Amino acid sequence: MAISFSLKGKTAIITGANTGLGQGLCLGMAEAGANIVGVSRSDDSETERKAKALGAEYFSVKADLQSTEPIAGIIEKTIEKFGTLDILVNNAGIIRREDSINFSEKDWDDVMNVNLKTVFFFCQAAAKQFMKQGNGGKIINIASMLSFQGGIRVPSYTSSKSGLMGLTKLLACEWAKDNINVNGIAPGYMDTNNTEALRNDPDRSAEILGRIPADRWGLPEDIAGPAVFLASSASDYVNGYTLAVDGGWLAR
Ligand code: NAP
Repeated sequence: MAISFSLKGKTAIITGANTGLGQGLCLGMAEAGANIVGVSRSDDSETERKAKALGAEYFSVKADLQSTEPIAGIIEKTIEKFGTLDILVNNAGIIRREDSINFSEKDWDDVMNVNLKTVFFFCQAAAKQFMKQGNGGKIINIASMLSFQGGIRVPSYTSSKSGLMGLTKLLACEWAKDNINVNGIAPGYMDTNNTEALRNDPDRSAEILGRIPADRWGLPEDIAGPAVFLASSASDYVNGYTLAVDGGWLAR
């Protein structure tokens, strides 16, 4: 059997496509041959331009994923445009930083809604579509080091990402028999908007860099290869696993 990492002819929905890791994921999948449905609430023209330069089709859908309301429409538009859905990458996510003793209910709800509730219902909608098509499918949830560790001052983020790793396992157990692979990627400390506050704090920044064995912050392109692997037929017997892409952070 030939091993294939090709995504040629496949259609991938990727949320948070406009920037950071989402852009890296779009470009990696575009390079592997997928049609990209980029879901963003902000201008994603840079991602669109770069994906098209790689020869991919790129379809931009605007949506605010703070609520589950846009999900059905995104799937519908994807099918209208490309005819099938094969891959879902739940990448959009937010973080709020505050001491737990002062943490607000709004910062709890906002983070849990985008990072966990919307992700669950997006997985559910994609799986229904996969089952209707009858050819299986691939779901990749973007987790975090805080799916494994506690962290500090980010209680809703740690809860959402720890919950997401558990949810990834549960969905894999329910849907593996339908040839739907649900897996996660846990990025380490990556140079994106998400970590801007940490990188701007000289003490925290030095502390973090000092314990990354690879001796550098990660870049959006670092998660592209692992994501293409998990989206391709090369990973058909990988179910419910969250792969750390962290420059060795967890190995330390
Ligand atoms: P980022 O640059 O802040 O990107 C977050 C993405 O999510 C943006 O596209 C953002 O859109 C989108 N988003 C947030 N809220 C949204 C909403 N309500 N509706 C639609 N889109 C929304 O950070 P990133 O590092 O690339 O983060 C991507 C994912 O990786 C997140 O799930 C994050 O938790 C995870 N992660 C990041 C790191 C890291 O070190 N950077 C580590 C572990 C995990 P806007 O640009 O419009 O806000």
